[in-house]
Amino acid sequence: MTELALRHDAVNLGQGFPDSDGPAAMLEVARDAITHNFNQYPPARGLPALRQAIARDRARIGLDYDPDTEMLVTVGASEALSAAILGLVEPDQEVVLIEPYFDVYAAAIAMAGARRRTARLVSDGDGFTLDIDSLRGAITPATRMIVVNTPHNPTGAVLNRATLLAIAEIACDKDLLVLSDEVYEHLAFDGVDHISLATLPGMRERTIVVSSAGKRFSVTGWKIGWACAPRPLIDAVLAAKQFLTFAGGGPFQQAVAYALDDERDWVTHWRDELAIKRDLLSKALEEAGFGVRHGAGTFYLCADVAPLGEPDALSFCRTMPRRIGVAAVPVHVFADDPAPWKTLVRFTFCKRDATLAEAARRLKQPS
Ligand SMILES: *Cc1c(COP(=O)(O)O)cnc(C)c1O
Repeated sequence: MTELALRHDAVNLGQGFPDSDGPAAMLEVARDAITHNFNQYPPARGLPALRQAIARDRARIGLDYDPDTEMLVTVGASEALSAAILGLVEPDQEVVLIEPYFDVYAAAIAMAGARRRTARLVSDGDGFTLDIDSLRGAITPATRMIVVNTPHNPTGAVLNRATLLAIAEIACDKDLLVLSDEVYEHLAFDGVDHISLATLPGMRERTIVVSSAGKRFSVTGWKIGWACAPRPLIDAVLAAKQFLTFAGGGPFQQAVAYALDDERDWVTHWRDELAIKRDLLSKALEEAGFGVRHGAGTFYLCADVAPLGEPDALSFCRTMPRRIGVAAVPVHVFADDPAPWKTLVRFTFCKRDATLAEAARRLKQPS
């Protein structure tokens, strides 16, 4: 879709990376680190200063993790997710994903020689929620792990406490690990609370929480992520990570260590800005006749093309860059069973207001 966007000079609301910078003082810390000889391998577990900052960040939600043994800095959340699956899931064991899901999970499961089963999100009013029965139904004696992502890419859904408690109950009952992808933990809107699975009863001991600086501080190219979990789980993740990358991003680790403590106001402001951008895009899509679905977080919202008389989001997205001059992604590429997602399109709104305004203008033109 990015290629199509380039070819037709379309506004690219497909790929979810911001076009504005993170906090200036954080960028300065990275520049300083590079200038002052901070350019060799960081420790495999991550810079101590960053791990201590992550420990303080966890403590703010009431979780206590030992920076020396219970966390790991990774090359983006992507590496934490892949290393957790490679390190903790044996060939022929099963991992349950919730459709639609971020593509990294399925690739890592395949690399681990494991099998994937899927539960699904379903419509809930104008938003989405987990079909808990589909999660129960996906679990077999071979299940080792459930992967949960909230706030959720691609739908923007933020799972509520009741849903997370139901997931926790199943995980505890079946003695499963949970890999919790919380890269959008600070980007939940409208006063909706993001709840970390590790804070729920019985969950800290079985949950690997993954987060990242990329989305939170608008530095997706830095690829500084981390995983927090009890020591035996982190040891397994480290065993895989050691031979994936060993370590990465030394100067950026220093900058993120600074930002986790000192740029919290910036993140709150970024979150509020994103909520306004969501509203802008949402309104433009509604006015253009899309069936806009409600999302309370992330960089994304979903819109239904069925009200436009379009039967298929994929062919719609293939021609939209040429016809309308806007690019976006069909949601069913994130699902094993495309049927329930056939007419949904994912748009990102993490772009400058001028970019969103231009997209809105184009969406309003008759195509
Ligand atoms: C962007 C994203 C990631 C990857 O994070 P990186 O830190 O860039 O590796 C993981 N999970 C979800 C749901 C994402 O949207």
